[in-house]
Amino acid sequence: MDARELRRWLEFYRDLGVRELRVPQAFFSHSVAGKIQNEAKDEKAGLQSTAYRAASGSFPAARQNEPKAVPFDAAVSGDPKTSAAGAIRAAASSAGAAGAGAVQPPAAAPAAGLVPLFDGGREGDTLERIAADLGDCRRCRLCEGRTNIVFGSGDPQARLVFVGEGPGEDEDLQGLPFVGRAGQLLTQMINNTAAREGMAVRRECVYICNVVKCRPPKNRTPEPDEMEICGQFLYRQLSVIRPRAICALGATAAKALLGAKEGITKLRGRWHWWRDIPVMPTYHPSYLLRPYNQNAKREAWEDLKKVLHYVYDEPPRPLSDF
Ligand code: SF4
Repeated sequence: MDARELRRWLEFYRDLGVRELRVPQAFFSHSVAGKIQNEAKDEKAGLQSTAYRAASGSFPAARQNEPKAVPFDAAVSGDPKTSAAGAIRAAASSAGAAGAGAVQPPAAAPAAGLVPLFDGGREGDTLERIAADLGDCRRCRLCEGRTNIVFGSGDPQARLVFVGEGPGEDEDLQGLPFVGRAGQLLTQMINNTAAREGMAVRRECVYICNVVKCRPPKNRTPEPDEMEICGQFLYRQLSVIRPRAICALGATAAKALLGAKEGITKLRGRWHWWRDIPVMPTYHPSYLLRPYNQNAKREAWEDLKKVLHYVYDEPPRPLSDF
């Protein structure tokens, strides 16, 4: 990989919202690296980059030699010969000495059958290409128990995208998102709310996907590292679809998109942002299925009404109206 490719690779992940790059401890003995390390102290941590780990296709091994985090901006800026990018390249080329978890340049051959996450940039990216890059993904431990990867479904040019947490049992078996009881409730919510508000919108008009694409064991909440790895594919999906708004279903989706620490009750009902796209967090439909959550149900319907009007009202009105 030459300096230009490395730079493009770094910029790609920075634009996806990845805020830090993980590099091996050995890298920090490098003189340029010391400068980055100081910069890293000043930089508030965002998403931890899993790009290298994901690209290497060997998630468990990558955990063994825990690397340090470097802000992307520091890594991307400057002359490739003398900057962090150059140093990272040097570190990558000597990574073999650092052990099994060492940083590998993304051009390194992935595990059999895997396509690295980055294979040329965002230009011309499509949902088909993302699905192809995902392949028979084994980039995190969630691959172990899955039946099917649940990529997402709906209109690829949807103006509204719903993002949930991860597949459940029905979704895992069918390979489709939100097809179980919670999914049926989501369908009703979309179809009925739109009908009541006089909009010709149905579930088929939107796009639905999850933060992680494989079912977590016993439907547990995805671990942060699993969200980081699989989140790269979610970000690419959202970047390709570029909806007018995103509805984050539940705390996990809100966390993945917004990096928020607050619970869903605090976040819901207000607009937030993923890059330049407005995000409305609301309750996950599975939470609404519980009989004692009648208030939450009403609130979720209110949130959805707001989103539908913002996205589908003609002529469009500014976000501040909703
Ligand atoms: S959850 Fe995502 S990253 Fe993990 S194995 Fe499945 S598709 Fe790959």
